[in-house]
This record gives sequence, structure tokens and C-alpha cells, in this order.
Amino acid sequence: MTDYTQILKGCQSLFYASDSVTQNDWHIYTNNLSVSESYPGILGLAYAPYALKSSGSELENRIRLNGFPSFTIKSTFKNNIITPVIFIEPLTYRNKRALGFDLSSDPSRKKAIERAIQTGQAAITNKVKLVQETNKEVQPGLLMFLPIYRNPINTLDKDTNNVLGLVSAAFRTHDLMNALLKRYNELDIEIYDGDNFEAQNLIYDSNSHLQAKKNAEKLELSSDTSVVIAGSTWRIFYNSNLNFNTAFETQQHYILLIAGLSISSLLFLLAVSTIKRRADIVLQLELSKKLENKKDEFIGIASHELKTPLTSIKAYIQLLEREHLNDKERGYVKKASSQITKLSGLINDLLDVSKIQAGKLQLNNSNFLLSELINDSIESVEHMFTSHVISKPNVIHEINIFGDKFRLEQALTNFLVNAIKYSPGKNTVCVNTRISKFEITIEVIDEGIGISPDNQQKIFDRFFRAEELLPSQSGLGIGLYITNEIVKRHQGYIGVRSELNKGSTFYLTLPTEANAAL
Ligand code: ADP
Repeated sequence: MTDYTQILKGCQSLFYASDSVTQNDWHIYTNNLSVSESYPGILGLAYAPYALKSSGSELENRIRLNGFPSFTIKSTFKNNIITPVIFIEPLTYRNKRALGFDLSSDPSRKKAIERAIQTGQAAITNKVKLVQETNKEVQPGLLMFLPIYRNPINTLDKDTNNVLGLVSAAFRTHDLMNALLKRYNELDIEIYDGDNFEAQNLIYDSNSHLQAKKNAEKLELSSDTSVVIAGSTWRIFYNSNLNFNTAFETQQHYILLIAGLSISSLLFLLAVSTIKRRADIVLQLELSKKLENKKDEFIGIASHELKTPLTSIKAYIQLLEREHLNDKERGYVKKASSQITKLSGLINDLLDVSKIQAGKLQLNNSNFLLSELINDSIESVEHMFTSHVISKPNVIHEINIFGDKFRLEQALTNFLVNAIKYSPGKNTVCVNTRISKFEITIEVIDEGIGISPDNQQKIFDRFFRAEELLPSQSGLGIGLYITNEIVKRHQGYIGVRSELNKGSTFYLTLPTEANAAL
């Protein structure tokens, strides 16, 4: 849920970064976050000004002139203050129903809004029915609010006069929890809004058989706990389900079977010790596999997490680029943008590693020419580095390749970037091609630091980097691992010939079309 709070913080900073946020700014910013793909469960992101009721008709006129001619504030209470939704994205049929809705006119929403204003923190409502709901497949809803102050520097000034408005996220709880809890399919989970297991407070139930109250029946493995999420307490009850029990019982029968078959004296002892030794080995293997999986999971989550703020920084830079800037300012924005591109590259590499580990690296194959692959890769690297000249001494034959051009360019670019990075003080890198009846080989040759025979065995492993590298030769040690995987997926292979302090030749070989079809 912290991720979801971060999303709102990003929206909050959009207001702090700009004097006036328009409907269009809100649209660009929130669309860049790709909320529905990256944050399942969020139905919409909205902004509502905190305004005097007397200013309602002026506000209505403003929004009507901005492309919503039928915009009307829907307020059911006689409050002095109104908080009508004026921006909401994505502008789906459901979300349009929330436009104009005065959030303060509902007690639960009002309570959370007040808590958010007083604490300056995200505050979540009790279970509510979202105005986006129609009569079909209604789900319990929640709203999370974050206040925007007119004077954010003076954070102590939480006076309502200092409140400009609120950003909010609307959640449909089944969608949200299904996304958050999907990996716990061996547990039945129920989540209640508040401290007790009352059916009317249920916000999520993974299997629609309420168990929490029947806890007294002593289910084999069950437990409950309370958590505080954005100022609201949720009580969570969970118990093992059939998936868990089946997995557990299968192993139990297996052990009993072995023990039973070898029940007689010595044989039995022998069997026990063998089983124990095997069990130890299996346990160790399982443990190291679990650790490895945890590491992969961490990389996947971390890179995904890093991508979120980066996307929002990119969106800000795009907004900045549309401003009237002087040359100096434009220069700064350009530099920031190029650093962001580098960072994006690193994060994308990490995401690629996760995809490879999960067997989910997708190829988008098409036909293209070998010369296009080589020339486009060289061109993109020439944009990044001016220290080296990349030469192509032999003529590139116009041979057709069927494969994922983007991924093969990524592979070749990695060879080229490495060739430059690991040959400081030199100024040439050479690209060679060789074509036989069966294979196309592309070589990237440098005159750099070279690689010891020992390290040549290891450089294609994940995260391996030679020890003696300079601090300026930074990297994550995953480029060659990804390159290797990409080329393997094209039925090819990669390799290296190298001599320390003399230079290296990295090559990738792809089957010719005729060969690939065999
Ligand atoms: P990174 O460059 O980010 O460390 P790579 O997977 O691309 O990751 O490379 C792994 C390691 O292989 C590098 O850290 C470096 O030690 C070695 N290496 C790769 N290319 C070259 C090269 N052209 N010359 C010398 N060493 C290289």
C-alpha cells in the first residue's frame, strides 16, 4: 500500500511544482504513470479543490468552459466548504460519474479528508460505495486522500485556510486485493475495515466463505492480525486452504510410504539415515533456490519501484520542455533528460534480467537487413560517445535477418558500449561481419584492457564484473548476460577472444535464414 501512497505523493508534487495545474497537465501526468497496468486496483486518480460553497457556480463555469459543458457540482450536505471532483483520470465511463461529486458530502469521505488535512499524511476512508459503481458487480470501495497546501513550505500551517485541495485515489477493493495478494493462493484471506469481524465491514474475501467468525472451530492453521493503513485499522484473518493442505499431505504420504516399506530393523535405520541425508540435501537445495528466487523477486520489485518515480520525473521534464525556457535553462533540462535516459537504461536492463529469469522475455520478430542492424546500432552508440571512431572495414552484405531488431540492436549496442568503455585512452573500435552458408557473424573488436582467460569463463554470468576495473568503468554486470540470452533466443551464440592489455573481440553468430528454417 506504500506504493499507492507514493502515487498520490507524485500527484501532490505536481501541484507544488506548478502554479496552476490544468486538466491537460493532470491527464499527461497520470497517463504517464500507466496506473491500470502498474497499480491494479486503482480505479481513478482525482483532484478536488477545497473551496467555499459560495464559489461553486464560478467553479462550475470554469470547468464547463474547459471542455465539460454539463459539469455540475453534486453536493448533498449544507457544508460551507465543498470538495468537488474537477479532474479525474482515466476519463472512463465509470470515472465520469464521479466528476462534480462533492467528496465532503459523505461522512466517511469527510472524516478521512479532515484527517488528511490535520496530519498532512495520506488518509484512507472506511468502506464506502464509490460513485463510480453502477448496479452491476458492485465491489466495496475505498478512497485515499492527500492534502495540497497553499503554502507547503510551512508544513505546520495545517489550518484549513492553507488548504488548496486534495488528490485522491479510488480503489475497488476486490481488484486491489486480488492484485496485492495473488501470490498467497495457499491462504484464504478476509480483510475487515475496523477492529472486528462484522460481515458488514468486510472489504475483501478471497473465497466468499466467511471463516473469521467460525474461528472457534479450530481450523488447522489460521491466524488473525491488525494493520494500520493510512490511518485506518484493518483486521486480517487468514487460514490455510485446500492448496496448502494438499501440498502438505502429499509430502506426508510419501515419507510414510518409504518408512513403511523399509520397516524391518537395519533396513529401516538405513532408510532413515539415507532419507535424512537426502532430506538435508534437498533442504539445502531448496534453501539456496529460495534465496535465489528472493533475490530475483527483489530485483524485479526494486526495478519496478525505481521505474515509478522515474516515469513521474520524465513526465515533469516533458512538462518543463513545453515551457518557454531560456538557453541556459533549456541546457539544464537537456542534461537532466539525458541522465534520466541513462537511468532508464539501467532499470530496463534490470527488468530484462527479471524477465529472463521468469522466462518471459518476448521477441517481436520481423524481417530486416543486416546492414540496418549494424548501422542503426553504430548510430545510437555514436550519439552517446564521441571518444571513439567506430569503423566498418568490410562491406556488409545485404542479407536478410528474421528476428527481433530492437533486441538484436540491444545486444550489438552492448558489445559496442563495452568496447568503448573498456578501452580508455584508445580511439577506435571496429565492426566486422562474416557470412558463411549457415551463419552470420558480427564481431566487435577493441584495443582495450582485455580479459584474463579465467575471467573469460565468467563474464557471461549474471552480475559478474572483473575486479580490476576503474571507478569510471561503472556497470551492473548484466549486459553480456542479457546479450547472451537474446542471441540464444535467436538460435545463435556469442563468444569472446581476448588477451590482457591487448584487446578483445566479442562476436555474435546468428543462423542464416535458410539454416534457421531447418
Ligand atoms: P558491465 O559492463 O555493466 O559490467 P557486462 O555484462 O556488459 O556488464 O560485462 C561484464 C564484464 O565483462 C565487465 O564488467 C568487464 O569486466 C568485462 N568486459 C565486457 N566487455 C569487455 C571488453 N570489451 N573489454 C574488457 N572487459 C570487458
